[in-house]
Amino acid sequence: MRDLANARLDTLLQHVAEEDRTLGAVVPPIFQTSLFVFDKPEDMRTTMFERPGGPPFHYSRVGNPTNDILERKIALLEKAEACKAFSSGMAAISAAIFHACRAGSHAVMIDTAYPPSRMFLNTLAQRYGVSHTYVDGRTVESILDAVRPETTLIYLESPSSFLFRLQDLRAVAAFARERGITTVIDNTYASPLYQNPIEMGIDIVCHSASKYLNGHSDVVAGVLCTSRERMEAIVREEVALLGAALPPFPAWLMLRGLRTLRLRVKQHEATANEVAAWLERQPWVQNVNHVGLPSHPQRALVESQMRGSTGLFSFEPTFQTQEANDAFVGALRLFRCGVSWGGHESLAVPLFVTPLDRPEGFRLVRLYCGLEDPADLIEDLDQASRAVGHG
Ligand SMILES: *Cc1c(COP(=O)(O)O)cnc(C)c1O
Repeated sequence: MRDLANARLDTLLQHVAEEDRTLGAVVPPIFQTSLFVFDKPEDMRTTMFERPGGPPFHYSRVGNPTNDILERKIALLEKAEACKAFSSGMAAISAAIFHACRAGSHAVMIDTAYPPSRMFLNTLAQRYGVSHTYVDGRTVESILDAVRPETTLIYLESPSSFLFRLQDLRAVAAFARERGITTVIDNTYASPLYQNPIEMGIDIVCHSASKYLNGHSDVVAGVLCTSRERMEAIVREEVALLGAALPPFPAWLMLRGLRTLRLRVKQHEATANEVAAWLERQPWVQNVNHVGLPSHPQRALVESQMRGSTGLFSFEPTFQTQEANDAFVGALRLFRCGVSWGGHESLAVPLFVTPLDRPEGFRLVRLYCGLEDPADLIEDLDQASRAVGHG
């Protein structure tokens, strides 16, 4: 048995939760099974919820040994007591929102949060009697001023994944805790390597694991991290009853992806910083929204709550027509036009956003820097700008 007592994070990430070497296999097996059987009926009555979703395993909708390895590793990364994997990021996010709201509740959400998260409040949550207010979130007051006596949820996304705006996690968490309001954050952008919201007092951390955690554009998955006590409630209700379990095969693929998380994220970070710094100097670029640039307007907050930036950012081109924006993205050769991010491949999307502070809206290009050489990515942006008559 190796001794991991004093091991550092990257060592733990490789070894933790892999104590049971089945037949000496260096890669844990996929427990491709729907159920687990017992010798005696009495044994079966041991609760499924003793360790939320962990052994004793009964049924793979609630817990599976392959998923359990993954969940223990991600809990470690997020410095959380418990983690649960879901069949998508939205499944994890909707489970967190259902957990935090009741009929008559009010939710406060960041106005630039991932659009389907906002749509969840507009549609499903609304249908079940949950009201909401969207807030800018860049000042603590903008969040606190929206809180009402019936507010039970403050939903953050810091940095947000279109405009890369931050919220002060420590201040919001302290305020919410005093009033018994549940705080949830979508931490997909930062990854658990660069931001650990639970350490700052946030109650529930969600990730779209389809992005960095898996990192190979071949799995749709989500995770939720929280305290053991809260996870017991979430496993009994949202996990068991909504039933959006991650099947063991994608969990196993994620275990493979997770082994290189640090290497990949560091490379995405370095490349995006180089590409964003180049873009900032181009005459056809008005503004670059990137957490990794010294010019980010919330620099002090970035430094106080994050340890780095990653591969995703956006910029406002000087050409503000849909045709020009589409033509620019269409002229790119290495950056493919597509949603999502977090894999090996660079991506670009033309966007029109209407945040609360600029309701008239404006055009953006969101870029995701994959694992290509940054010089090639810069050349690609340069040739596309010239192809559309700028640059
Ligand atoms: C992709 C994404 C999600 C949703 O995750 P899925 O795995 O696609 O369901 C949530 N939040 C952010 C910031 C995302 O980029």
